[in-house]
Amino acid sequence: MRAYLVHQGVLYHSEYDGRASHRTAVTRLIRGIWKEHPGQALSLLRNRIFTDSPLSPVCEGMIKVAAKRFEVLSPKDWDERFSGFEGSVKPLAHSVPGAEGHTFDVGPASTSDLLAHLRLRSAGVPAVSAVLLDPRGRALLGSWNLTSEDRTAHAEVNLVEAWFAKHQTTVPCGSTLHVILRPCAMCAAQILALAGNPKALRVVFHQEDPGPASKNSCLVPGTDLWMKAGSPGWQAWLADSQEE
Ligand SMILES: [Zn+2]
Repeated sequence: MRAYLVHQGVLYHSEYDGRASHRTAVTRLIRGIWKEHPGQALSLLRNRIFTDSPLSPVCEGMIKVAAKRFEVLSPKDWDERFSGFEGSVKPLAHSVPGAEGHTFDVGPASTSDLLAHLRLRSAGVPAVSAVLLDPRGRALLGSWNLTSEDRTAHAEVNLVEAWFAKHQTTVPCGSTLHVILRPCAMCAAQILALAGNPKALRVVFHQEDPGPASKNSCLVPGTDLWMKAGSPGWQAWLADSQEE
């Protein structure tokens, strides 16, 4: 799978080797542009993104969040459009930009660090956070929204990226992902990619998101991935942890 974008005679491109389920050419292109050309990202992403494969739900969601237009080309149309391209060609990093700086990593014994960090964040600018708990309720990984640096860097996307970067595998069965706001379509699809077995990942969001991106979003209709608004789980977990 390839994704191309042309801006002022420069062809930016990214490819997908099929080895990691949460990464696609389109998401590598969009996140690669934010990572490598942050100052130009908004104008670059006004251009049409071309791809040679049908869009996955993650790609669709990320285009909604951070780009404007896309077109899926047949192999024949792809060759016609790009085989004689005469501008310069700029490959973007084939690995999705690392999530360093977007997440904080906690071991099972460092739940208090995680809590301290969350409290620190919530004392300042309203932060959208996500925390992954193992089946015994211990914090595995936390993340937050960093959209001022990358429009696609929602807390859930950052968490998925960091998890895969570190473990190269899906989350343990029986885990719970707590998210402050209802995940948007992009994040819902990323969360599904995080779950090796969607029926064994519980997702709980704690507030409705007033923005349009999350309106009526759900993980994937027809799956048993569980989502619930207003669950007291988050507050209960915070309170329990504070007592330890
Ligand atoms: Zn999101």
